[in-house]
Amino acid sequence: MTTPNRGTVLLIEDEAAIADLLRLYCEQEGFRLIHAPNGERGLEALRERDPRAVLLDVGLPGMDGIEVCRRIRAVSDVPVIMLTARAEEVDKIVGLEVGADDYVTKPFSPREVMARVKAVLRRAEEAPRVPSVIAASGWEVDSGRREVRSPAGAVVRPTAREFDLLWYLAENRGLVLSRTQILEAVWGFDYLGETRTVDVHVRQLRKKLDGIPITTDWGVGYRFEA
Ligand code: CA
Repeated sequence: MTTPNRGTVLLIEDEAAIADLLRLYCEQEGFRLIHAPNGERGLEALRERDPRAVLLDVGLPGMDGIEVCRRIRAVSDVPVIMLTARAEEVDKIVGLEVGADDYVTKPFSPREVMARVKAVLRRAEEAPRVPSVIAASGWEVDSGRREVRSPAGAVVRPTAREFDLLWYLAENRGLVLSRTQILEAVWGFDYLGETRTVDVHVRQLRKKLDGIPITTDWGVGYRFEA
């Protein structure tokens, strides 16, 4: 059997049945799945195996998925998709606030999980080939390094999704962009999430990039001031 080798996906999940199911689907799609049953082992595997994407369960024994995600983000911008059994909105948002790229609620269809994995990888690959820098209001947004320089010279590396959002706003600086427009451009047309996701990511950008000139047009959307 020949399947394309699309690289390694790390699954951090304590339920063996879910791991078996996702392994099957990953292999069908040409990914190799590494399974870690808890956060500590997952962080180890991240260091040693350098996966292309991480599927991370929120409800883990010991260190929970939220904390694992924070620790991943401290060392890596690998795409992280959270798996959560708790449907409450707050859990999803918390998942995004700690720097996850996406989430899927349990019970999920393995097909949906694979679609999300391929989507985050596609976005990572679609990063502009030719590095370029947008300079506006004293800020520099660098698509080659995927980092941002403040007027004072501080260099910040937002998460992959935060960077894509900032790049989209900066590319369209001076224009008010609606949340739906932003969702479609940054998360993709097939994204099933809510426009509140955009608000959460803008809030994160403002927190990380103090003074970034992103203004809110109430009831409309966001604008990067030119
Ligand atoms: Ca679990």
